[in-house]
Amino acid sequence: MADLTPTPDRPGLHVSKPSPNTPATASALCHCGASATAKGDAQVKALVEGYTAHHGPAHNRR
Ligand SMILES: [Zn+2]
Repeated sequence: MADLTPTPDRPGLHVSKPSPNTPATASALCHCGASATAKGDAQVKALVEGYTAHHGPAHNRR
């Protein structure tokens, strides 16, 4: 899974939840330079929603 982690060369959003009993983790890196990490289902959900709304593909809609 490590090769899915976003890098400056391959920006994006990566969410990992190894098992139902393990808190989800996420990392995001946008081509605009913004980056964020989150741990725990609620934080990961917020990160994904925020990234989707404001970064990544959202840049193309403006
Ligand atoms: Zn961005």
